[in-house]
Amino acid sequence: MPELRQDAVTGRSVVVATERAMRPSDLSKVRSAEVAGPEECPFCPGNERMTPHELFALRPDGSAPDGPGWLVRVVPNKFPAFKHCEVVAGSHSLFKRCAAEGTHEVIVHSPDHCRHLAEMSVGDAGKVMEVYRERYRVNEMDPEVDYIHLILNHGAEAGASLEHPHTQLFGVSLVPPLMELELRGSFDYREKTGGCVFCDLISRERDSGERVIADAGGFIAITPFASRFPFEVWIIPDSHEPSFGGMSDSQIEGFAGAVRDILRKLNLKFNNPPLNYYIHSAPCDGGDYGYYHWHLECFPRVSTPGAFEWGTGMMINVITPEHAAGFLRS
Ligand SMILES: [Zn+2]
Ligand SMILES: [Zn+2]
Ligand SMILES: [Zn+2]
Repeated sequence: MPELRQDAVTGRSVVVATERAMRPSDLSKVRSAEVAGPEECPFCPGNERMTPHELFALRPDGSAPDGPGWLVRVVPNKFPAFKHCEVVAGSHSLFKRCAAEGTHEVIVHSPDHCRHLAEMSVGDAGKVMEVYRERYRVNEMDPEVDYIHLILNHGAEAGASLEHPHTQLFGVSLVPPLMELELRGSFDYREKTGGCVFCDLISRERDSGERVIADAGGFIAITPFASRFPFEVWIIPDSHEPSFGGMSDSQIEGFAGAVRDILRKLNLKFNNPPLNYYIHSAPCDGGDYGYYHWHLECFPRVSTPGAFEWGTGMMINVITPEHAAGFLRS
């Protein structure tokens, strides 16, 4: 059963999910890609029996579940990091733990084993984003889910264990520490100024333009002023909305276009680099998060944090965000 353990000194939470492993000796192999060709790929059409029963699929031809004919398909993760379970009570105060509850789903972007989002038409990428929003909305109704984390790992070095392009959705039973920080910062900013820190950032960045990479379709793409990684990019909707689930139908194409275009730029500049992105959105725990503004954060894996970064919690970025934005614009 996965569990959350809390560090006695810092309060930092760690998820221990042994269902996902492996013998200790397997861990040395984690870095190399598990490259399955289309024949053995559980996400390729014709291999639907290799996954658990589908939760949702776009099937314009009305084909039956768990067979070919889908455009985007959602299945539960076979090795869930979070699943519904009982709270484990009673442990020594230095060693706090509780059961990690929640959901874990995989959204397969298309039937094509090799089709990265960067190579999709905006219309097809829009179908993927529509399914993101659909699953977000379903999961936020789950009373055990307090926060929904949508992530993309592309390439083995970025944590992808399967090559076939897919996104993962984690519905977790707590608000993660980084989100707590962003919520606190956004809340304090509103207390001080009455405004939204993201809305104000957008307007300042637009004025100067030096960190803007793209600005179209209701979404702005910038390299943040204090970028942690080289070529870190944030994609932020113009309109103030706390939750990703609140994205309107008319925004989907703009969002898909913004994401597709940034991935395409990174692909061109770095020759299909391993990369990660995730969406930050207001928690769905019943709280009032009107002061928050959802967005996507993306970075190619072109640098590796070392002991300074791990030991201090401070990243060293070897390229200025202004230079990075200019490079990606060009
Ligand atoms: Zn495949
Ligand atoms: Zn805002
Ligand atoms: Zn964020």
